Amino acid sequence: MNEEIKLKDYQDIITTNLAWTVKKVELFGAIMAFSRRENSNVNGLQETQKIWSSNKSKPNNDENFSLFCKSLGIESSGIITCRQVHGDRILICKEVPKKLVAADAIIVTAPGLYPLIRTADCVPILIIDRVKKISAAIHAGWKGTVLRIIRKTLSTLTDIFKCDKSDIIVALGPSIGKCCYEVNRVVLDPLFQNLPWATEFSVPYQDISESNDEKRRLDLAAINHSELIKFGIYKKNIYKLNMCTSCNVNDLHSFRRDGASSGRSIAITGFRL
Ligand SMILES: [Zn+2]
Repeated sequence: MNEEIKLKDYQDIITTNLAWTVKKVELFGAIMAFSRRENSNVNGLQETQKIWSSNKSKPNNDENFSLFCKSLGIESSGIITCRQVHGDRILICKEVPKKLVAADAIIVTAPGLYPLIRTADCVPILIIDRVKKISAAIHAGWKGTVLRIIRKTLSTLTDIFKCDKSDIIVALGPSIGKCCYEVNRVVLDPLFQNLPWATEFSVPYQDISESNDEKRRLDLAAINHSELIKFGIYKKNIYKLNMCTSCNVNDLHSFRRDGASSGRSIAITGFRL
C-alpha cells in the first residue's frame, strides 16, 4: 500500500482506546465512530467480553456497550439498529422503532438518534448530511455491494430528502482488504455483471499451489469508494480507514479469520441533541 496515501487518509481520524472517530464531523455536532476490538492491552476489555458477538441484534455485553457509548458521549437509548440480512432494504426513521426490522441501511432524520451497524469483514459505511442533519449507516458485504446498497442510500438522501451532494460526508470503516479477500465466481459473476468497472478493483489470486484461475482477490472498500465518487460525493468529504480486518488481529474482528465465533465491530453515526 502507498504509505503516503495511507497517512493522508488517517490525518482526520482520531484513535481513542475504544474507537476510531472522524474529527471533522464534530464541527457539525455529529459523531462517526468505528469500534476497536476488545483488547486488554489497549482498552482494558477482555476478549471474552465482546461488546457484540456473532450476528446478534443486541449487544453481547451491556456493560461494555455502555462504556463504548459513554466514550462517545451518547445515550444508548437513542441507538437504532436492524437485523442485517445482506440485502438492500433501507430503514428510514425519525424515532427508535418498536420492533427490530430486517434491513442493511438505516437513515435517521432526527438528532439524538444514532444508526448503528455491525461488521466483521464487510464494509461499514457512515454518512451524514451536515446541513440537513440526517445520518445513515450501511452494512455492505459483497451482496450489498452487488445490490448497490450505497448508491441506493445516497439516491434516497438526494431524491427523497433533497440532500445536496456537496453537504454529504462519508466514512468507510475497516473491512477485509484485497490482501486477504479471496473470492470465486459465485461472487465475481454477479459483481462484474452489475458493476463491470469493478474489475479494476480485483487482482489475480496468487496462490500457485492451487491452480485456480477462477479465483481473484477483491477490494470491496475501493469499489464502494468508487460508487461514492461516481455518485458525485466530493473526494475531500470521504474518509477511508485503510485497515484490513483480517490482518489487524489486535484491533479488529474478522469472520474469515476467526469463523463463526468472531465478534462484531460497531459502526455508529448521528447528530447529538
Ligand atoms: Zn489483509
